[in-house]
Amino acid sequence: MAEAWVWPAGLGLLGLLLGSFIATVAIRWPEGRSVARGRSECDACGRVLGPGELVPVLSYVAQRGKCRGCAAPIAASHPVIEVLGLAMGLAAGFAAPGWTGAAGAVFGWLLLTLAALDLRAFWLPNSLTGALAVAGLAIGFGPFAERLIGGLAGFAALWLVAAGYRRMRGREGLGGGDPKFFGAIGCWLGWQALPLVLLIACGIGLAAVLALRVAGNRMSGADRLAFGALLAPAAFVIWLAMV
Ligand SMILES: [Zn+2]
Repeated sequence: MAEAWVWPAGLGLLGLLLGSFIATVAIRWPEGRSVARGRSECDACGRVLGPGELVPVLSYVAQRGKCRGCAAPIAASHPVIEVLGLAMGLAAGFAAPGWTGAAGAVFGWLLLTLAALDLRAFWLPNSLTGALAVAGLAIGFGPFAERLIGGLAGFAALWLVAAGYRRMRGREGLGGGDPKFFGAIGCWLGWQALPLVLLIACGIGLAAVLALRVAGNRMSGADRLAFGALLAPAAFVIWLAMV
């Protein structure tokens, strides 16, 4: 069955290439730099990169993570995000060969972009969560009404949590983009999936905090957590389990 490989291979390759673009977006967008030119220059010396330096993952490995011109380290987020883009395309293609899998891969790559921006700049741009919500209502998983309710319920639930925290503690606990992001996830998966997404996100967060402790970093109550970066993998795992 050659066809069984076409979707995972195609989506995986696309994910690898898109991962390269997503990594660049996550570095340049928060700095207000142009992303239109893609990954065409070194972030340190501005030298224009040749085709041999633009191959996802392989260029990074071949150059040992350094620019060929100035030897400045290339952000490790580049190969990591490229591999994640590949893995999400492969997983979506295997889980649902066909257009459903392609839609799931788009979901995954948008989640990856938002998670990368949240980790780097604690920023979930409205334009991107808005695009995620619209795409979810258009090509998401399950009955439309359940996804519409998911969008409203997801936003309302985290908005209430944020408002309650602000009242009790007198400071922000959640970023302003988190309720919008959670609502957009509801637009893809439907309202029924949201409690489990939240539970898994909290589980990943707890594991991350424990791992940091073991590594010797102690988080205080005032430390910020990139909650969007926890919601994103949880949402993709739930999509894989639902499809
Ligand atoms: Zn350089």
